[in-house]
Amino acid sequence: MKRICAIFLVLILMLTSASCIHLEPLETESTGETTDTQPITDESTEETEPPPEWLDATTAAHAFFADAGNATVDISKREYSYAEMEEDLAILAARYPKLFSYRSFGKSVAGRELYVATLGNPNAAQKLLVSAGIHGREYLTPLLVMKQMEFLLAHYENGDYQGMAYADLFADCCLYMIPMSNPDGIMLSQAGIGSLTDPDQRATVQAVYEEDFRKGYTSQTDINEYLKYWKANANGVDLNRNFDALWENYRMGEPEPCHKNYKGPEPMSEPETRALAALTDSLSGVVAVLCIHSQGEVLYWDCGQEDPLRAQTYAFTDVIGDRSGYELIREQNNDASYSDWCALERDLIAVTVETGKGLCPLDLDKFEAIWFDNYDLLALSAAYFCAEE
Ligand SMILES: [Zn+2]
Repeated sequence: MKRICAIFLVLILMLTSASCIHLEPLETESTGETTDTQPITDESTEETEPPPEWLDATTAAHAFFADAGNATVDISKREYSYAEMEEDLAILAARYPKLFSYRSFGKSVAGRELYVATLGNPNAAQKLLVSAGIHGREYLTPLLVMKQMEFLLAHYENGDYQGMAYADLFADCCLYMIPMSNPDGIMLSQAGIGSLTDPDQRATVQAVYEEDFRKGYTSQTDINEYLKYWKANANGVDLNRNFDALWENYRMGEPEPCHKNYKGPEPMSEPETRALAALTDSLSGVVAVLCIHSQGEVLYWDCGQEDPLRAQTYAFTDVIGDRSGYELIREQNNDASYSDWCALERDLIAVTVETGKGLCPLDLDKFEAIWFDNYDLLALSAAYFCAEE
């Protein structure tokens, strides 16, 4: 009901005075250079006395969601592809050159570039690292983080998190964002075997399918229907079971390449895993890592780390839980995941955020709840770690 009211208010506002919300026109440049963009000073709006809460992040998030058709990151289609992500990264970098950039930090098995985007002040002392899309079929997570970044950029000059202006917040903070940690797996899930061009790689995936079929893991006679549920990379390795963090202890999974839960022939056997670890090690000042997955609306934080890291990780996760409504899972899970590696091998605060509820790949109608539960996760994290007391 609150959402409906908020949308109604926004519509009224847009009809009466489009300048009140001061949403950035999406087709114009916004480099953060202008200083004369404060909406309240507009004479035409003074008489109507817009309530100040119309400028708050929640209202802006509703307007942003409703205005999806005019946005760069298109949320009207579930299968947000690798190519669309590449295109959107380029558009955002061109539009916000002072606030946003991106680069490759490695290549996938099939040769796709692995991208990390930088948002905020690269010279800030505190940095946060966010990894999404490490499981093929969880491709609403790249859509979420791309949308989160676009939202922050569009509202950089006029948005705030609990009274802290984004511009101030990200002057002291830097986000490193990896929208697709496993682009090959995502494209296999979205587009099937045709997403691989190399005959040997196709043969590998075909062999995994035939073996999974033989074992009764799938009854699909069409490989592309089977591939919709693919979590692994193009070698049939689950990247989130391939990290060198208690890798030997993970025995619950599959003994050979599979659409999910095969940890690989050795820790860090996969190029995507090695690239993600090398990137993490190359960045200085990273204080926390968020691993965005689907599904369950739960938060995993317990990797068996010891205090004080353990208490610090729990405290941060608790704040995310308060905001999102997601439940904190208390069971320990040592599964050679990226967050295990960050926590146990690099002493970093690492939280796994399981967005949405349902069978992956989640239907697009799940995205609305995912968005409203998480649109300010980045700002919340920046405020938690970077804002001065
Ligand atoms: Zn996952």
